[in-house]
Amino acid sequence: MEENTTHKTHKYRLYPTKPQEAAMFETLRLTRQLYNAALEQRISAYKKQGKTVTGYDQQKELTALKKACPEFEAVYSHVLQEPLERLDKAYKRFFARVKQGVTAGFPRFKPAQRWNSFKFKEVWDKKKGRWLTPGRPTDDRKRINIPKIGSVKCKFHRPLEGTPKTLQIVHECGEWYAVYTCEVPKNPLPATGSSVGVDVGTTWFAITSDGEFVENPRHLKNGLKKLRVQQRTVARRKKGGNRRKKAVKLVAKTHQKICRQRLDFHHKTARRLVNEHDVIAHEDLKVSNMVKSNLARSISDVGWSQFFDILSLKAADAGRKVIAVDPRHTSQRCHQCGHTCRENRISQARFVCVACGHSENADINASRNILHRAGHALHGVNGSGVSHAVA
Ligand SMILES: [Zn+2]
Repeated sequence: MEENTTHKTHKYRLYPTKPQEAAMFETLRLTRQLYNAALEQRISAYKKQGKTVTGYDQQKELTALKKACPEFEAVYSHVLQEPLERLDKAYKRFFARVKQGVTAGFPRFKPAQRWNSFKFKEVWDKKKGRWLTPGRPTDDRKRINIPKIGSVKCKFHRPLEGTPKTLQIVHECGEWYAVYTCEVPKNPLPATGSSVGVDVGTTWFAITSDGEFVENPRHLKNGLKKLRVQQRTVARRKKGGNRRKKAVKLVAKTHQKICRQRLDFHHKTARRLVNEHDVIAHEDLKVSNMVKSNLARSISDVGWSQFFDILSLKAADAGRKVIAVDPRHTSQRCHQCGHTCRENRISQARFVCVACGHSENADINASRNILHRAGHALHGVNGSGVSHAVA
């Protein structure tokens, strides 16, 4: 990517037919299977023979794979390469962290709910300045050509800007989307001179170093309550019965609604942070999961990673910086004097330093530590978007 350009995503709703949707689900299933198999191969090659299998090695095996398992013929070749690249990136990120002394976030096997997209990595012929076959919209902009899936109805509610690079087909909240990533000129927001640390929590959605508590929206909480009631209804009804089927449908509908509301809330919160701050620091979830693992956190984790993804996309477009820092001890370290010990945290909510007596809300203290760590990391970090930092 050139210096003065950035990536912008354009998202359009897709309306696949039943067979097209079935083919899309099948593509998700196969690409996920490939990712998990590739991870398995890397792990066992290392365990059994101490051998390192590279992404390149695995790419070379794709032809043989298609011969042995012909169902993979149903997936476009670039789409099949992409999970291997994803895995390769996950490995590289992991080893970059190891180099910095953090052994966390080893690539994990993907369950179905963590695998919701597949990608065409080239949709534009740069030399000739025209669309390639995958992802090419029809002239009337009513359909998109998706190889091996078909010509899928699409709503282009706004025009594409810039030079299209990739097309990702995403299944989100029960709906399908075409997400084009385009190269566009940078559109930086004027600097504000402000930096912020963000701590995510289970009681509050987020707490900032400015002392702001971002609450989970009320309608979201109500929706979750409703969902629990409906799920209990399903459990009560007789298996195979019509009344149960109806109840299951209601659960799915509520799920979808909550999913959309959460997405909307994440967009708004990220937009606000990006408008107000030049630098936004948050904890690196890959690391924090290892440190503070509990059930509530691992459930919230899906939501947070979605939020941080949205945040870094908006930040990259606006020329802001998002830094993911090692969160270890951020809740035990005194923001004033640096003294770090467990006894500083006298309760879930309160922080009182045993060395200097500094007293503060525990979450605000943690978010200030996160910001502090980002400050260290900023030196020697270049480029926009997410940087992984250990300080
Ligand atoms: Zn202190």
